[in-house]
Amino acid sequence: MSDCLFCKIVAGELPVDIISENQEFIAFSDIDPKAPIHKLVIPKQHFENLSELAKADSALAGRMSEFLVQLADELSLTEGYRIVFNTGVFGGQTVFHVHGHLLGGRQMSWPAG
Ligand code: 5GP
Ligand code: ZN
Repeated sequence: MSDCLFCKIVAGELPVDIISENQEFIAFSDIDPKAPIHKLVIPKQHFENLSELAKADSALAGRMSEFLVQLADELSLTEGYRIVFNTGVFGGQTVFHVHGHLLGGRQMSWPAG
């Protein structure tokens, strides 16, 4: 989608700090980190959010969670971490290309705001 920010990242049109990539996914640093480690994982294919991805291709959604967990391992987040998929307006989603937030490096609080 030409007007999608994260599709522009996939196309190499916006510079990001890519930390991991395979044929299906890219991981890069969030521009406005909410924790000492804050990475975003996106599929290269455009889906609006996790709901749309899981309905369209549940196997890809599964591989995305595997990619996120592998990334947490690669970053040595042995004390734990949080993976977040903000979904829809009430879910706090602001970029409508599905992305998983990987947050770590500090104690997280609950409930989320
Ligand atoms: P959401 O609120 O949709 O769950 O998360 C969108 C995330 O994308 C936010 O954490 C925001 O900081 C991040 N973000 C927005 N624009 C950019 C950008 O141009 N580059 C990077 N690296 N992250 C971005
Ligand atoms: Zn997109």
